[in-house]
Amino acid sequence: MSWKVGRPGLPVQPADITLAKLTGMKAIAARVAALGPSPFAEMTALAQRYGAVNLGQGFPDFGPPAFLQDALLHAAMSSAHQYSPPPGLPTLREAVAEMLAPTLGFVADPEQEVTITVGATEGLAAALLALIEPGDEVVLIEPAYDSYAPQVRMAGGTPRSVSLQRSAAGWDLPLAALQEAGNGRTKAIVLNTPHNPTGKVFSSGELAAVAAFARQWDAYVLSDEVYDRLTFERPHVSIASLPDMRERTVTLGSVGKTFAATGWRIGWAVASPELTAALRGAHTFGPFCAPTPLQAAVAQGLRTAREQGYEDTMRAEYRVKRDLLTAALRAVGFEVLPCDGTFFLLADWSPFAEQAGTHDDREFCRWLVREVGVAAIAPSIFFSAPHRAQGAHLARFVFCKTLSGLEEAAARLDRLR
Ligand code: PMP
Ligand code: GLN
Repeated sequence: MSWKVGRPGLPVQPADITLAKLTGMKAIAARVAALGPSPFAEMTALAQRYGAVNLGQGFPDFGPPAFLQDALLHAAMSSAHQYSPPPGLPTLREAVAEMLAPTLGFVADPEQEVTITVGATEGLAAALLALIEPGDEVVLIEPAYDSYAPQVRMAGGTPRSVSLQRSAAGWDLPLAALQEAGNGRTKAIVLNTPHNPTGKVFSSGELAAVAAFARQWDAYVLSDEVYDRLTFERPHVSIASLPDMRERTVTLGSVGKTFAATGWRIGWAVASPELTAALRGAHTFGPFCAPTPLQAAVAQGLRTAREQGYEDTMRAEYRVKRDLLTAALRAVGFEVLPCDGTFFLLADWSPFAEQAGTHDDREFCRWLVREVGVAAIAPSIFFSAPHRAQGAHLARFVFCKTLSGLEEAAARLDRLR
């Protein structure tokens, strides 16, 4: 038996592995057959192949703060090596409830309302598995993070998309289109603020509209707030803090972005006791629990972070990096869209279309990584076909890199002049 593999240096494409053809055995499940490789991992592999500065996949090129690394060493020397209770270590659930209280507007009950998950990705999957029945619709706001639609489908639901519209201020949620997306089958809406890839922080009016939509259709809000600590212009607001929203919202977060620890895979889901019980069912019979030593380290780390004012320092550093990369992109001719939160910048590359010989964002990103030595992500991966034009001529660049990494990227981009 020989396995068909992807191009050298690139991950194997699940769609290429047609088990039935290779082995004569029954086919793989339709729910995974159409899934390609992660576009983020694919771009990282290309960046490695071309020795490019990787401003594609959203992970920092620096480690977690020293106090968090120390906390991990301490956890490694302790006895925290076996399974934790499936909902997570009680100390971590308490620390998460304390940390989120100012933005949630309530102190979640660590016993009944907080679950520690394997990153926000698993939290969202567990929430969808807990809620979605075949025939249920889930509204996704595009551009939408790439795991949402596959996760909705794997849970048996049907994604229904509404696209943000570009405006002078950045991106707006079209309220009429949101209205049209609702119907009796609407079970949930996924919200992401601050928003990947646009850097948008949803306005209070938009949050109120999403909340009204959820109430009107008796739907749940799955609120992906992994960038909640990364806002530059106005503070983050959790939709669960709006009137009557606590009971119909699952608030998802993780340490990946805030602590430069995307590989630690520690996240959380905060929801009403009833929803939490359902979500914990999917979580317990999925991963069972998140890795215990990392939970112990994060419990310690969240408290130290607060004592040391870590978040303010981190935000200030990211602001400098955002401004540095914005200036570098503008200097060579990109139009950079406003970024109020996250560590992503969207830039319009129309002036380089002729030089790159393409009007396709994937082709442009392949050209950029190969010829200029800077990796970026093509935003079309965040759109379904009907809305793809919204992302035309854009590329997403991350600024979660060291200053020297960003300066190196700036020097390479300068070759475009
Ligand atoms: N949601 C969004 C919007 C993201 O950008 C990411 C990428 N980190 C995730 C979820 C995944 O979070 P985690 O790594 O905690 O699973
Ligand atoms: N969230 C990251 C991004 O948008 C990628 C995460 C991943 O590769 N799973 O780039």
